[in-house]
Amino acid sequence: MIPVAWTGDPIWLADVLRAEGLKVIEHAGWRGRGHGDFRDLRGVMCHHTAGGGPDDWPVVQNGRPGLPGPLAQLVLERDGTFRVIAVGVAWHAGAGSHPGWPTDNANWHVIGIEGVNNGVGQVWPAAQMDAYRRGCAAILRRIGRPASDCVGHKEWSSEGKIDPSFDMVSFRAEVARLIAGGPPVPVENEIDAEAIVARAWIGARLTHGELPTADGIGRFARFANGSIYWHPDVRNGEATAVPAHLMETYAQYGYETGFLGYPTLRHTVVPGVGDIQAFEGGTLYRRYGHDGFPVRGVIGRRWAAEGHETGPLGWPISDEYDNGTGGLAQDFQKGRLQWDPSGVVKEMGRRSDAV
Ligand SMILES: [Zn+2]
Repeated sequence: MIPVAWTGDPIWLADVLRAEGLKVIEHAGWRGRGHGDFRDLRGVMCHHTAGGGPDDWPVVQNGRPGLPGPLAQLVLERDGTFRVIAVGVAWHAGAGSHPGWPTDNANWHVIGIEGVNNGVGQVWPAAQMDAYRRGCAAILRRIGRPASDCVGHKEWSSEGKIDPSFDMVSFRAEVARLIAGGPPVPVENEIDAEAIVARAWIGARLTHGELPTADGIGRFARFANGSIYWHPDVRNGEATAVPAHLMETYAQYGYETGFLGYPTLRHTVVPGVGDIQAFEGGTLYRRYGHDGFPVRGVIGRRWAAEGHETGPLGWPISDEYDNGTGGLAQDFQKGRLQWDPSGVVKEMGRRSDAV
């Protein structure tokens, strides 16, 4: 494949990052924000914000006294989320030079990324560095430029800039490897792979291909006897099947948009008794012939410590409910767990009359 050079504004910025499996927040109005239009794109420049907190991005978007925003096209949060701030030119490069780039004039040719970091010793979390490398690789691949056009502000600047605070040489080597590796494997392969693992029970595929989940990042596909969910950040990017029996309960709690989030483990069958499956925000338990319930949080940890459903309390027979005294309670086959801010109390043999 011969890369195609890109001239003009990178209107594809959010899509290219998302296709790389990265988390993206598109800021309202980003497609109209900038100090005029880009000329030909020749690379990316890495910065740190010198702030280090969750409120660094407004300065990048709005500017500061004497320097109107935008000050970069992208902000990279510490959890690896990219904020897409502007499609047009931003004031980030200042004076400097780099082979193949116009001296003292990079702002019209280079996409600026501001990584949230204080620059004076704050660590760069692994999720943020991973996203930084993948984001640079995705952009360079899109504009047909090599990893050598991934440049640190400190390398470019003739004005004494020191950002970013990580080593650019090893960073570039990783970016080069990612560019050469090509874009990530299409997500339908993960769902297809899980469908093969689950072929003994999951039945015929009902959806053609797969559908986007509400967050726009994950994907799912429906089958006769269950569904398969995929999200790049969950279960190391592997898809997970959820059987129809648990899907009914999952639906009651809002699927992946509810507190349960995405499935994090394959389900467990307790023969003749019921099904169990872990999700990001709790674990679903459903006995055959009964409603299912999630177990989570402090009550869930106490219950787990006593042996889960094989412990003295047995399976859950209610969700958590308000216990009327400022705390929460949950009923199990053989008793109740009460939680209040001072701890969890077990009450064997007692259950709410409501269930
Ligand atoms: Zn900088």
